[in-house]
Amino acid sequence: MAETSATEERLTLTLPDGSTREVPAGTTGREVAESIGPGLARAALVAEVDGRVVDLDAPLTDSGAFRVHTFDSDEGQEVFWHSTAHLTAQAVKRLFPGAKLAIGPPVEQGYYYDIDFGEPISSEDFEKIEAEMERIVEEDLKIHRATMPLEEARRFFEEMDETYKVRILEDLKADEEVALTEDEEVSLYTQGEWTDLCRGPHVPSTGYLKAFKLTQLAGAYWRGDPDNEQLQRVYGISFPMASQLESHLQRIEEAKKRDHRRIGREMDLFSFQEEGPGFPFWHPNGTILFNTVSDYIRGKLEERGYHEIRTPLILSEELWHKSGHWDHYRENMYFTEIDEKGYAVKPMNCPGACLIYASDLRSYRDLPLRMAEMGTVHRHELSGVLHGLTRVRSFTQDDAHHYCTPDQVEAESATIVELIREVYSDFGFEDYRVELSTRPEKYAGTIDMWDRAEEQLTAVLDQSGLEYTVNEGEGAFYGPKIDFHIRDSIGRSWQLGTVQVDYSMPEAFDLEYVGSDGERHRPVMIHRAIFGSVERFLAILIEHYAGDFPLWLAPRQTVVIPVGESHRDYARQTAERLREGGLRVEVDDRDEKVGYKIREAETGRVPYMLVVGDREEEAGSVSVRRRKEGDIGTMTVEAFLELAQKERDSYS
Ligand SMILES: [Zn+2]
Ligand SMILES: [Zn+2]
Repeated sequence: MAETSATEERLTLTLPDGSTREVPAGTTGREVAESIGPGLARAALVAEVDGRVVDLDAPLTDSGAFRVHTFDSDEGQEVFWHSTAHLTAQAVKRLFPGAKLAIGPPVEQGYYYDIDFGEPISSEDFEKIEAEMERIVEEDLKIHRATMPLEEARRFFEEMDETYKVRILEDLKADEEVALTEDEEVSLYTQGEWTDLCRGPHVPSTGYLKAFKLTQLAGAYWRGDPDNEQLQRVYGISFPMASQLESHLQRIEEAKKRDHRRIGREMDLFSFQEEGPGFPFWHPNGTILFNTVSDYIRGKLEERGYHEIRTPLILSEELWHKSGHWDHYRENMYFTEIDEKGYAVKPMNCPGACLIYASDLRSYRDLPLRMAEMGTVHRHELSGVLHGLTRVRSFTQDDAHHYCTPDQVEAESATIVELIREVYSDFGFEDYRVELSTRPEKYAGTIDMWDRAEEQLTAVLDQSGLEYTVNEGEGAFYGPKIDFHIRDSIGRSWQLGTVQVDYSMPEAFDLEYVGSDGERHRPVMIHRAIFGSVERFLAILIEHYAGDFPLWLAPRQTVVIPVGESHRDYARQTAERLREGGLRVEVDDRDEKVGYKIREAETGRVPYMLVVGDREEEAGSVSVRRRKEGDIGTMTVEAFLELAQKERDSYS
């Protein structure tokens, strides 16, 4: 530790476990980390005091909450990735001295650096750059921070011909909000022979950046403006350990293989056409999948006393004024005109459900009233963000609205949470995260209503035994909500189900029920979805299973393959029997080799291939191949049917 003297200023640091530590001012974050434990000191990348992230070797000047960031925190990752952007830039400058550097921020997964190479490079140059980065890591150069007046820094970068850095500095002066003067200081980071303009912080030395990979080269414009200079964006990713990089690259590879757009083509499930940008076309196989999932959910709703409704796609503009969508959601809506009156295509199903509720006088005996709708909605998205089935302009929600008394919110929410858990488990999602979001600053209704609803939702979650986190102040303006995030088979997280209490819409639509006291009361409305968007859910399912659906979901379940022309009749008879037994079955009687047909069925992800020739015909049997497993033996048609039915009915 730094030498202490009696007069020296002392800092009080509060550690994450709540304990406090007194250290002399000027002690570094690294020294504090060492005093906590050698393991932490080894993993430490940067320190944080009082909400400010600083270099590990920077002398501490303030008291406050103290923590050390390792690669396990978002802050640690950002610093690690941004430091690797510097590493990349230094290697580039060694290899391409004329290259001019623009900006190099961390992104969600890794980092990039925008560079003007003069003469554009190709990704074939990556190997060379990576080799130089390797050398710089071995040199283990210390990364120093220094400050200098803005004008001095401007001259420094001008001399190096780093024109983009000069422009960044000039902008700092010109920008009304920042408005630095020439004498105000900016910070620079130096490693070895190379210096960058940077706010920091950074890892202590280049030796920390053990495992990295340049992943992609893309075009970019200075300041994102197509009128400006065209730059090249070098993307990369890095980790403290080689094994982490390895598994990351494997995950990316795996995700590519599972891409639902590719599998969707191979299984002939859906397509997008120029004539309807962002509007999915469901092909026959995809429609089977869509209907199977819809029928499944309908079965669940019937058991639980839901009433299914259907409401129009196009509704008057006035309705959307009333619902608040006009004020808050107009940008994402499509409009049209009928008989010179304005109409809108519905972006949500709730107002339609409210009109049905209001179509009759409701009594407390009718509540809770559960109305479900497989409702197709249209929402405008910019063309740049459209992505397969996960970001579309038209999709179907497995929507439902529960109308209930304020006392029933808890019981209703509990049945919804139970239903959501049951459904996710049937689809093989056992790992999920639950979040409860509470009253935001701007809210509808009264504080009493909110407190009560939050209490009720908390009780539901506590009794469910689910672990959950609370997002204070993150609720919708109309009520608190519970969100479900599932984790798929390769570890990605997706937000799906939602339970949202709403006080606002019943008010807006003047919904009422007659209570046991004979007076009129306002019902509470609970919006809920389990899949969210069926389209997006199917995309997630396709990637989760990599197209190898459990039998009940597989659009094509069985294909019967006759060995020769003479076996076609037997193949058709077999198919007929299986169809009667409720299986989806087709006969591939094209003039192709058996091996070819098997390969094609494998690509199409058909779980069962039944080959029939002389022997099978004589014995009334089928020779069964299971996708990916191969031959699983010969059995009678009846035995196969029984086996397949059992598998189909087991949801797994
Ligand atoms: Zn930097
Ligand atoms: Zn709704």
